[in-house]
Amino acid sequence: EATLYLSARVAALADGLVVVLADDLTASHRIEATRRDFVANVSHELKTPIGAISLLAEAVEDAADDPDAVRRFAGRMGIESARLADLVGQIIDLSRLQADDPLAEPQVVEIDEVLHDAVDRCRVDAEKRGVTLTLAGAHGAKVLGNLRQLGTAVGNLVENAVVYSDPGARVVVAAHTRAHAEDDDVEITVSDTGIGISPADAERIFERFYRVDYGRSRANGGTGLGLSIVKHIAASHGGRVAVWSQPGRGSTFTITVPAHLAQVRSTERVGSDE
Ligand code: ADP
Repeated sequence: EATLYLSARVAALADGLVVVLADDLTASHRIEATRRDFVANVSHELKTPIGAISLLAEAVEDAADDPDAVRRFAGRMGIESARLADLVGQIIDLSRLQADDPLAEPQVVEIDEVLHDAVDRCRVDAEKRGVTLTLAGAHGAKVLGNLRQLGTAVGNLVENAVVYSDPGARVVVAAHTRAHAEDDDVEITVSDTGIGISPADAERIFERFYRVDYGRSRANGGTGLGLSIVKHIAASHGGRVAVWSQPGRGSTFTITVPAHLAQVRSTERVGSDE
């Protein structure tokens, strides 16, 4: 019974109930439990494409006399290898993010540049899917942070907005600065008129490997890691990510990060004095 209780607690940690249940666990126990859970998930997720590739290799051998079948199996091996490469790349991204926490050597990042890059990367896919992708501008927003990481975060959100939409949907990407007494906040929003997310799923989509509709997500080649990467990047910038959604109507994801205004301004001044 003791073992059962412990594993239930570990599972609950993975579900994001850390605050409720962690009062009797030390921080290192918590980190260890999360790490073990992650390793178990990674092994499971990697085994699927690897298993498929080895089955397909056998099928190619058996079908040596049938060039059409060989071509078909080879095509599927290509798809599974690409999926494996995606997974490995994202797992490496995630582990790097954890190691880099908090952000090393932040620089002034023009959010306009971040949004442009993210939108440009998704433009072809949006056109293919009949989704209108609009960049509504960043209104001069700047933050102290990491350009590559912010690009990855916004890119993941735009990619999802395009993928989880039907033809005719609209995706709008924008950023605004909200003034506060101490520091400004920069809000980056990615809105879509796509399929939307139920409230129960919305609570879980930022967990690693969580996918709402396994069939559709798998068909889209998703890994379930994109949003957990976004969450880590927002956190390493001292910010957060939130989602507002209505099933069938669409979703809006908002990354909010502090601008670290004083440092942004003084860095600018140093730049313009030179
Ligand atoms: P995936 O690689 O599956 O896209 P993510 O972590 O990026 O993984 O997203 C997790 C899940 O959240 C997706 O599988 C999808 O079901 C859901 N999701 C993410 N973004 C959207 C969106 N803009 N609209 C609807 N569902 C979304």
